[in-house]
Amino acid sequence: MDLMVLLETLSVPRPGHSPALKQTAAMIRELLTAWNIPFTEQVFSLRYHQNFLMGLSILILSSLFALFILRRKPLPAFIAVAAIVLMLVLEVEFSVPTVSALIQKPTENIIITHTVPDAARELIFTAHYDSKTDFWDHIQRSYIQKRFPFFLVLCLLLCLWAFLANRMAFLRLMPFRLGAWLLTASYVIYAGFAFSWLGGYMLMDEHSQSFGTIDDGASVLVLLAMAKDIREGRVDTGDSNITILLTSGEETGLHGARWYVKQRYDNGRIAPLRPTALISLELIGQNGNLYYATSTSSGLFRSYKSDPVLAERLNKVWKGMTGNPMTVISGGINDAFPFLAAGIPSLTIGHDGNPGSGYGGFHSIQDNMARANPANIALGIKVLEKFIESYPPQPADRSSGSG
Ligand SMILES: [Zn+2]
Repeated sequence: MDLMVLLETLSVPRPGHSPALKQTAAMIRELLTAWNIPFTEQVFSLRYHQNFLMGLSILILSSLFALFILRRKPLPAFIAVAAIVLMLVLEVEFSVPTVSALIQKPTENIIITHTVPDAARELIFTAHYDSKTDFWDHIQRSYIQKRFPFFLVLCLLLCLWAFLANRMAFLRLMPFRLGAWLLTASYVIYAGFAFSWLGGYMLMDEHSQSFGTIDDGASVLVLLAMAKDIREGRVDTGDSNITILLTSGEETGLHGARWYVKQRYDNGRIAPLRPTALISLELIGQNGNLYYATSTSSGLFRSYKSDPVLAERLNKVWKGMTGNPMTVISGGINDAFPFLAAGIPSLTIGHDGNPGSGYGGFHSIQDNMARANPANIALGIKVLEKFIESYPPQPADRSSGSG
């Protein structure tokens, strides 16, 4: 099996709205079948233009907000802002469809399970097989994301100004009005940036599409290779059940992982049968050292800490292999989020991209085969396999075991 040839086959733009998404799933299924690896599919409805529809709604509601502020109508202005927040909270925090329900299609998670008798734990590994092209990369978009609370407060203050200005004449004086208009204009510009982040992909032509080689093709490849090694007995899984979850719809709102967590754990209301941990792979296979993220966020309000015990265990394995500790980063938005939200200890890992573009240049044409580092892909497989093997099997007599 030539991993780089496989990676090249995976490296095609395969965003949620493209036919290539289905073709990629078919390719993975064919590969697993050829390798004699059993798998299941979990079909769900992908609201694949969620980001565009949210961006467009933000733009329309923000324009209405500006209009109401200019006319000093505080209640309608407040309602426009509240509608934005409500939509974002429902869609982004809780994956409850509002505007995104308008456009849907079926897609699937691909799940490989390796079970052992009397398993003491379950280790889940996940990577997403969809890709994305955006106006902004992961770093640039975080500037837009971080300013959201600031602009939210600004909008509320403008509503307050409109309310008070209708009652106090001095607040209608030109300096106040001018100030309010300028601040309103700055918010509308911000809303434009928010739209370009969320919906800008609709304006990108086919020649500027990301190949998704590192985000997250190589991670999928690493998990497929690991599944093959496990299947062929090259990994001692001890008393751990291993689940490999290849998700769809990560880039459109973590839909695949959210669906999995909802179906399996009812978002945390159903406790796992045995101790469970998740490793989420993001950006494995580019240059650099292995990183782990200290937290994962929804992209809006909620953020959860990664599991320090998992981090310590993996760091020890990595150090044993390379002599170096893992790079520590603050975190991002990825499939670990719904697991953490459901109370499952999780950790996101990848390569830090140094030397090179680091965490920049993703969701763009720069994410292509030239960015792949074959040695790091091989190391990625190895570190995960050693991580699995780092769990000592329980004593043979389980009834008198640790309990
Ligand atoms: Zn990704």
